[in-house]
Amino acid sequence: MRIDVVTIFGEYLQPLSLSLIGKAQAQGLLEVRVRDLREHTRDRHRTVDDTPYGGGAGLLMKPEPWGEALDAVLADPPAALTADAAERGPVLLVPSPVGEVFSQRLAVELAAEPWLVFACGRYEGIDARVVEHYRTRIRVREVSLGDYVLNGGEVAVLAITEAVARLLPGVVGNAASLTEESHAAEHDGLLEHPAYTKPASWRGLEVPAVLSSGHHGAVERWRRDEALRRTARRRPDLLARLDPSRCDAADLAVLAAEGWVPAAGGFRPAAAAVAD
Ligand code: SAM
Repeated sequence: MRIDVVTIFGEYLQPLSLSLIGKAQAQGLLEVRVRDLREHTRDRHRTVDDTPYGGGAGLLMKPEPWGEALDAVLADPPAALTADAAERGPVLLVPSPVGEVFSQRLAVELAAEPWLVFACGRYEGIDARVVEHYRTRIRVREVSLGDYVLNGGEVAVLAITEAVARLLPGVVGNAASLTEESHAAEHDGLLEHPAYTKPASWRGLEVPAVLSSGHHGAVERWRRDEALRRTARRRPDLLARLDPSRCDAADLAVLAAEGWVPAAGGFRPAAAAVAD
């Protein structure tokens, strides 16, 4: 996979050369190219911002440097693209608090792409015509890290790149660990169960006995129960998307005890079911 990042703060992306993502780059599984937006300015001050039409606080990023920078990226595709992939071009990811909220599901989708391009906004963001224009040429996704505001898109690039790159074959040593995690589709998008390592007793806290029982079935049941309980208590919104046909009688009993009953396409609170 190749990732191009256009930014005015290239140094922000240096952590991508560390740890597993750095190793993935060294192994040729991933190539990250950081490009300076200011190289596509024409004035002495290398200006990338200006005041917003209609007034208001702050400055916006001007469309011209973005147009030139992104056109330069598009004109320089990865060498190994299939004809089909070259035809479709990259996915342009624009970090923004107004975008769709980034999720494991989107990370899986993006991990299947050979080429991603990020456009990092700063100030009050990028002139809206940039997204409008590139939507007519390539696939564009505005992506939010969550319902809060950062100073720039670089932190979002770090988070999204790490979530996507760890899904690429060979990046994480034990591939099974990717499917046994919170939000994994293979685990029905549930939160992960609590996990423990040695010692068995620490500061008066004991590891649940079932985990040392050697009884594989009982361990799996305990983990599934805990995952369901945790999800119901911490992220009930995820239960709305839990497919009831993927739940056995024991799952249904745990969820019923937490106050959740099956409904079309997911679960809903028992009280709401009664009210209907
Ligand atoms: N004026 C924008 C608004 O109210 O929606 C906020 C601009 S923010 C100060 C500057 C840049 O930070 C954005 O263009 C985007 O690149 C990035 N950013 C801020 N919050 C973000 C979030 N929650 N997710 C992803 N990127 C974000």
